[in-house]
Amino acid sequence: MTVQLKDPSLFRQQCYIDGKWVEADGGETIEVTNPANDEVIARIPKMGADETRAAIEAANRAWPAWRALTAKERCTILRNWFNLITENADDLALLMTSEQGKPLAEAKGEVTYGASFIEWFAEEARRVYGDTIPQHQADKRIVVIKQPIGVVASITPWNFPIAMITRKCAPALAAGCPVVIKPAELTPLSAFALAELAERAGIPAGIINVVTGVASEIGGEMTSNPTVRKLSFTGSTRVGKLLMEQCAGTVKKVSMELGGNAPFIVFDDADLDAAVEGAMISKFRNAGQTCVCANRIFVQDAVYDAFAEKLAAAVEKISVGAGTEAGVNQGPLINLAAIAKVEDHVADATAKGAKVAVGGGRHALGGTFFEPTVLTEVTTDMKVTHEETFGPVAPLFRFKTEEQVIEMANDTEFGLAAYFYAKDLGRVWRVAEALETGMVGVNTGLISTEVAPFGGVKESGIGREGSKYGMDDFLEVKYICMATG
Ligand code: ADP
Repeated sequence: MTVQLKDPSLFRQQCYIDGKWVEADGGETIEVTNPANDEVIARIPKMGADETRAAIEAANRAWPAWRALTAKERCTILRNWFNLITENADDLALLMTSEQGKPLAEAKGEVTYGASFIEWFAEEARRVYGDTIPQHQADKRIVVIKQPIGVVASITPWNFPIAMITRKCAPALAAGCPVVIKPAELTPLSAFALAELAERAGIPAGIINVVTGVASEIGGEMTSNPTVRKLSFTGSTRVGKLLMEQCAGTVKKVSMELGGNAPFIVFDDADLDAAVEGAMISKFRNAGQTCVCANRIFVQDAVYDAFAEKLAAAVEKISVGAGTEAGVNQGPLINLAAIAKVEDHVADATAKGAKVAVGGGRHALGGTFFEPTVLTEVTTDMKVTHEETFGPVAPLFRFKTEEQVIEMANDTEFGLAAYFYAKDLGRVWRVAEALETGMVGVNTGLISTEVAPFGGVKESGIGREGSKYGMDDFLEVKYICMATG
């Protein structure tokens, strides 16, 4: 084993189905590599439709007992899981950095953030209130109750290997639903470790299942199997659309957290130092590989040069290296395909007249390391305008008026997050309301928290995760009409 954990039993290479650690039926495996050095760190089961069906059936068998527990009983078990994750944060962070690449400090931050959803929904479990409604006829009484929807399937991406799982599983489990998780094949080890801790926390067999393998086969079974009543997906818009189509056959409820193309706007009345700080967090966190990363940075004419200079100076200080090395604040990208996309965006922009202020190419470390980059004089005919770069490239567009930048910001099929920096209160309200996104950061580049609703509009998604709204996606509303006569 190449990842040295304090508790080696958190290093699991098998899937978790019906409370058992299992191999694929045919014994086939997939390699998991460390993106910082391409070293193979694990071999995980290559499962398909059959194993997925077994997991779904196990979840369905386990469901009645789980939903019959009181909310407080489920809450206590979830709280145990939260405590175990918190206690094992160092190991979980190291495991995550080893398979995903992000710096250890960021990985640790994600463990805390991921665990926070479990704590939050353990508390929310006890507040799933129903309703009574004044009757429409004298001899009737109307009651509304909320019930767990049933078996939930979760498909999650590699950029947040823990938080994207807990953000879906915690509300599902709290609501009384069992889950079958398909983590990204690039980052399954964090998912297995979460399952190991779930088992220790007392989550019964069948209530959490983790399957890895051929995405299209697992996804095909999850979306066609009528026992699955809900699919919660985070990933690309392309795959999200495909899964929605597949879910239509059995009319499943879906939650989709898809791509973004976040605008980050700096108005001329902004505090430029604060805007630079916000841009650094919003753009360069996780090496630019988050769906809420600033993708297009719009800067008003009068402050354009000053902002570009300050941002370039800050970006030059980013230390690139393996996430396990001290002082590193940008790790490798996930794989060579990610590097190719970033290179393509930079080449397209510079060919059309953009200037490289900092970086601009592969990093001297080689492999999947890319230089933190700032591009200036970027225009809307360049690829970076319409496609999510998902890498450490900050493209600076110039704009003149508020109306113009709102039009530019909204000129995309995506609508996940937006950020802007301004001081004028009237402008703050106008712009916050005019941006067509599910989330807006005003004078901040960091908006994610378990207490607020995360999600997008337009082609960025359906549904909200976290907050008091996050439980609704896993509940059905039932109206009961009682005659009194
Ligand atoms: P990303 O750009 O984050 O890799 P993807 O949408 O490709 O976005 O991946 C997100 C998740 O969707 C991963 O777990 C991946 O394995 C899964 N996935 C990809 N293709 C399919 C598919 N055809 N059916 C089901 N899941 C899929």
